[in-house]
Amino acid sequence: MNIVFLGAPGAGKGTQASMLAKKYQIPHISTGDIFRQNIKDQTPIGLVAKGYIDRGQLVPDEVTVELVKGRICQDDCVNGFILDGFPRDVAQAEALANFAKIDAVIDIVIPLDRLTKRLTGRRICAKCGESYHVDFLGGVSNCSKCDGELIQRADDTVETVQNRLNVYTVKTAPVIEFYENTGLLKDVNGDQPVQDVFQEIIEVLNDLH
Ligand code: AMP
Repeated sequence: MNIVFLGAPGAGKGTQASMLAKKYQIPHISTGDIFRQNIKDQTPIGLVAKGYIDRGQLVPDEVTVELVKGRICQDDCVNGFILDGFPRDVAQAEALANFAKIDAVIDIVIPLDRLTKRLTGRRICAKCGESYHVDFLGGVSNCSKCDGELIQRADDTVETVQNRLNVYTVKTAPVIEFYENTGLLKDVNGDQPVQDVFQEIIEVLNDLH
């Protein structure tokens, strides 16, 4: 099954996509993670992407679309994939429709005013990418899964978060309408405990069979 996860930054797409990828044994493709890895490795894509990401803007469509096109052609995607963070504007959604058949689009819905706190308080493991929130860390500074150091993402600062939420409202929210018109869109309530969100996603996907 080829699945797209939509939702504002901080809605929990990454966490849910990674849980679902484990359950379905298909790859979790996060364009944000791919860009961050490219920045770390100082690749040409990383060098282009860094400025945009640091400002909270979208990396240009031609770079991002080619990246995803190449990634979903790889052997591990034959039984399906989960896209997290792509498409992020209508042009990307139109491009995707030309090179992949999407079976389901899950929109994780959460009130926008909850997101600033979620994002600015987020800490991620520098080694495995696991996500935490300072409110629940109790002073712990290492990952409970791999003991990696917990850090704040460079684009989770107050100012950049504001830009990212503006970009979401202007450019990404119209993607919801795009998929509404294709009949693929399913809403899930993201404002509940992680396991409950996951349960709702599983139910939505089971109903498709
Ligand atoms: P994320 O980890 O999904 O929050 O993405 C972090 C940043 O990577 C975004 O704020 C964008 O700058 C960039 N990015 C990720 N996915 C895309 C995309 N589909 N199109 C353009 N830029 C993207």
